[in-house]
Amino acid sequence: MSASPIFQRILLKLSGEALGGTQGFGVDPKRANEIAQEIRDVHESGVQTALVIGGGNIFRGVADPAKEMDRVAADHMGMLGTVINAIALQDALEKLSVSTRVMTAIAMHQVAEPFIRRRAIRHLEKGRVVIFAAGTGNPYFSTDTAAVLRAMEIHADVILKATKVDGVYDADPVQVKDARMFPEISYWDVLSQNLRVMDATAISMCRENHLPIIVFNLNVPGNIVRVVQGEKVGSLVTG
Ligand code: UDP
Repeated sequence: MSASPIFQRILLKLSGEALGGTQGFGVDPKRANEIAQEIRDVHESGVQTALVIGGGNIFRGVADPAKEMDRVAADHMGMLGTVINAIALQDALEKLSVSTRVMTAIAMHQVAEPFIRRRAIRHLEKGRVVIFAAGTGNPYFSTDTAAVLRAMEIHADVILKATKVDGVYDADPVQVKDARMFPEISYWDVLSQNLRVMDATAISMCRENHLPIIVFNLNVPGNIVRVVQGEKVGSLVTG
């Protein structure tokens, strides 16, 4: 890596679908390996790296198949899905000799450490990649909100929100051909225009705590490193 990183500590938010590869569901080990390589590159550049992974490739509490279910039960399933993804990513990272810890918001001692804030920070200081799993541990929340919460707790400099598109647009760029991308946009504009970046709870928390978000395309190889080096990639959401 040539340029040096502009962040000391990052929180990278990956959706569960990112691990699903082209199928979009389940875990594609090939895709997990590709993502792990990019995370390793960032980590090797000396950036303290924490991850929050979603569970949408396995189960979403708000999705159609869960409609007949009690919402809390469905959300518990969703949170357990994020643990499956965290273990998959941990395995892929450790195969590349990256030292990792999975910390869960729901206790499951045989599988992972419980989330303890000071311990998480210590892991990061020791150069371990920390994967936060099971969301916030509470139903009715999303992993985007979990990402913001954890980012604030560990004093991350920024949230890197990896998506399937290049940044924040005024319309869905997959549906609308001439959708406009914002290189920079305020939290308030995201909220008032109801732009699909993160859910409103997550954006509001970033706004209240002045935590910048960079939204970028995970499907462009090398993008995570570019963002961390300060290249103008994606959209910056800030005050
Ligand atoms: N979830 C939850 N509380 C949390 C985080 C997640 O109940 O704090 C559940 C919720 O059902 C959600 C699912 O876990 O639909 C998967 O998370 P999310 O939809 O955020 O994953 P992503 O879209 O990022 O893959």
